[in-house]
Amino acid sequence: MDCENKSAQIKSFSDVTEFHGHVCPGSALGYKAAEMALQELSATKSFDEELVCIVENDSCAVDAIQVLTGCTFGKGNLIFNDYGKQAYTFFNRNSKEGIRISLGNSFDMANLDPELGPLRTKVATGTATPEEKHLLPQKVQEVAEKILAMDGKDIFELEKVSIEAPQKASLYKSVPCDNCKEMVSEHRLKDYDDLKVCIPCLIKIKEENKE
Ligand SMILES: [Zn+2]
Ligand SMILES: [Zn+2]
Repeated sequence: MDCENKSAQIKSFSDVTEFHGHVCPGSALGYKAAEMALQELSATKSFDEELVCIVENDSCAVDAIQVLTGCTFGKGNLIFNDYGKQAYTFFNRNSKEGIRISLGNSFDMANLDPELGPLRTKVATGTATPEEKHLLPQKVQEVAEKILAMDGKDIFELEKVSIEAPQKASLYKSVPCDNCKEMVSEHRLKDYDDLKVCIPCLIKIKEENKE
C-alpha cells in the first residue's frame, strides 16, 4: 500500500466523537497526535499491523488514539504508563523504530480561549449562571475546532525513538494467587514472605499490617 492511500484512510473527528461520546479539547488533541503519527510513520514505512502505542495518560485523548490507530488494550498494542503526561509513543514492533509525540511547552489551551478555563471551573463548582452553563458546550466545541485546525507541529514536539517492545501479555500463563486463589497472569504476581500474591491482595495485606 502506498503512502497516499494511508493518509486518505485516516478516520474523521466525527468517528472519534461517535466512539468517545462527546466533543472536547482532549479528544481533539488526541486526534492531532494520532494524525501526526500516522502521517510520519507511513512516510518512514515503519507503519503496519505491528504498530504499538504507549500512552502516558488515560485522558479523553486516548480514545482518539485508539480510533485512529486501531491500537487497543484488547489487542495488547496499547500500553498505558500512568505518568500523567500528554505524550504518545508509536512504534513498530518488528523494526523497533518509532516516534514519541509530546505536548510542547509553548502549547497553552488558555491561548485558544482564555475564558474556557474559568468557565469550566464555575460550572464544575456550581457557581455558574444558567447563561454560563449554556455557553460552556459552545466554548468547548470552539476550542476543539481550533485545535483540529492547527498544524500538529505547532502543538507537539516530535522525536524519533527506538524501543524494545514489551512481551505480549498473552504469552504469560495464569496461576492462582496464594491469598484470594483467583487466577492471575504470572508476571503480575508479587512476592510476600513465601507467598505469591496478586497486586490487590498485596495492597490489602500491607494495609492490614499497618494497623
Ligand atoms: Zn472528552
Ligand atoms: Zn489475590
